[in-house]
Amino acid sequence: MLKILNFIISLIFPRTCSLCGENISFKDNKNICDKCINTLPKLDGLVCHKCSLPLADGGATCSDCKETKNIYFKVLKSPFVYTDKIRVLIKKLKYSQRPFLAKDLSKLMTDFIIKENIDKNIDIIVPVPIHWNKGLMRGYNQASLLADWIAKELNKTFYSNALIRTKYTKPQFKLKKQQRAENLENMFAINKKYVDKIKHKNILLIDDIATTCSTANQCSKVLKENKAKQVIVVTLARASY
Ligand SMILES: [Zn+2]
Ligand SMILES: [Zn+2]
Repeated sequence: MLKILNFIISLIFPRTCSLCGENISFKDNKNICDKCINTLPKLDGLVCHKCSLPLADGGATCSDCKETKNIYFKVLKSPFVYTDKIRVLIKKLKYSQRPFLAKDLSKLMTDFIIKENIDKNIDIIVPVPIHWNKGLMRGYNQASLLADWIAKELNKTFYSNALIRTKYTKPQFKLKKQQRAENLENMFAINKKYVDKIKHKNILLIDDIATTCSTANQCSKVLKENKAKQVIVVTLARASY
């Protein structure tokens, strides 16, 4: 009986994979099929032990982490490389009005967080904020959607507005490395309402992509300056620029 009901529902509301377009059973409650999930580009092999940048020739730390004097996060980790299917999915989440993809993608992040034993060392989950102007245009902050689902799955406290973005920045990918750092200077601030709530807490900072890590580092700086005990960063994908 249930089978027939599911079949009828799937006829009325056909659900297809956001990547390959294959039909997905309604009862699976997914937007990406298993076949596509299994072929996402995993981040493995040699990576920087601090920021997870893929390293061509071994060594523990990338040149960026060696040169940067102050890195405020303990570690940055990502399950995937920002390429191929993950790039397509993130672009769909951000620019094609598909906020529902956040649930599917957050599940992949949650599995990774558990596998890496990160969940045991966090009290609070906070997203990298976007400027209200962008939020207004898009209607949502993709990092916040991901963080919210992860917090629900892991049963952790979620503060969507603990960090705020103080100025509107140029898209980072249009800038050179030095300009990126300047572009982000004093870009983030703590929301005064959360000062006491983050004090002495272990924080998991969530974003969709890590490119140079300067965004993650600036956010971590603000959290640490406001007495957060430790910041661990997890992004869905790691760009290897
Ligand atoms: Zn598919
Ligand atoms: Zn590094």
